Amino acid sequence: MRSYTLIAPAKINLHLEIISDRPDGYHELVMILQSIDLADEIYLQASDTETIRIRCDHPEVPLDKSNLAYKAAELMAVEFPQAFAKYGGVNITINKRIPVAAGLAGGSTNAAAVLVGIDLLWNLGLTQSELEELGAQLGSDVPFCVAGGTAIATGRGEQLAPLPSLDNIYIVLGKYRSLAVSTAWAYKTYRQEFGDSYLRDTDSLSARAAAIHSGPIVKAILHKDAREIAQKLHNDLERVVLPAYPQVLQLRQTFASAGVLGTMMSGSGPSVFAICESLQQAEQVQLRVREILPDEDLELFVTRMTSHGIQVASSV
Ligand code: ATP
Repeated sequence: MRSYTLIAPAKINLHLEIISDRPDGYHELVMILQSIDLADEIYLQASDTETIRIRCDHPEVPLDKSNLAYKAAELMAVEFPQAFAKYGGVNITINKRIPVAAGLAGGSTNAAAVLVGIDLLWNLGLTQSELEELGAQLGSDVPFCVAGGTAIATGRGEQLAPLPSLDNIYIVLGKYRSLAVSTAWAYKTYRQEFGDSYLRDTDSLSARAAAIHSGPIVKAILHKDAREIAQKLHNDLERVVLPAYPQVLQLRQTFASAGVLGTMMSGSGPSVFAICESLQQAEQVQLRVREILPDEDLELFVTRMTSHGIQVASSV
């Protein structure tokens, strides 16, 4: 049986701006998404049965049809019934390293890896944009996770405009293991508290989405200027998550006091990242934060920005 091992990187948000709500219940967003080296490993093996099976030993990852990786395989079976009939189902093993429900797109990147892997397993020859279109049916972050790197994301987050990649900018990432923030709760609360300021007419919406392209953070990215990028980080969801989760606020303040270039919550949280000058500084910050917050529940990772999305590590 053929098999593929894929690397599925997490993402952080360098910019997350909520500009309106949408008739489909989602929000109209302007984001800059960035892949990081912290990644799950996905092992895909064709089975000669008609079933899709998920294996994962992380207690918070569902093994049933609600797993986004399962949904990705199911979507491929529906979209390509002849290939499904020819090659059969898939066994999917998820080696989870990305913290779950952390605002790091863990489920989305697993789904993207399954789309890329099944395309290879079934010899479909899909293009990147075809894979992204399939991904958009599964979740707003899935299309970005396919190619990864650095990109402006608008609409629900599925409309992508790639930016030049940022390699070798080191970050420290922190997440309390027992703390999970529901993405749906964060957006709903934001709507309740700040919905009055949403843009309503299409011209203003398009103008706001276009403004990011010439805005200061994109300029900093084009110059690959880590210091400038760190100073221009922005996340609207901090306005609702930080007041409701004092530990997240404290973690962010602790990073800021440790002399990093800049710090921000990722997505709907609760993970917080800090941009550092070098690998050495990132390691020092990790130690310093560990000293100030000696809580075993707090996971800290030193990682870096990366230019790639889903990658094939090996095939047999
Ligand atoms: P995003 O940043 O895209 O909002 P997230 O990083 O906040 O996502 P996930 O790690 O994707 O969140 O997990 C959200 C929920 O999805 C979890 O509570 C988990 O039960 C469920 N889930 C489904 N499939 C997966 C998967 N493959 N990996 C992790 N969680 C999954």
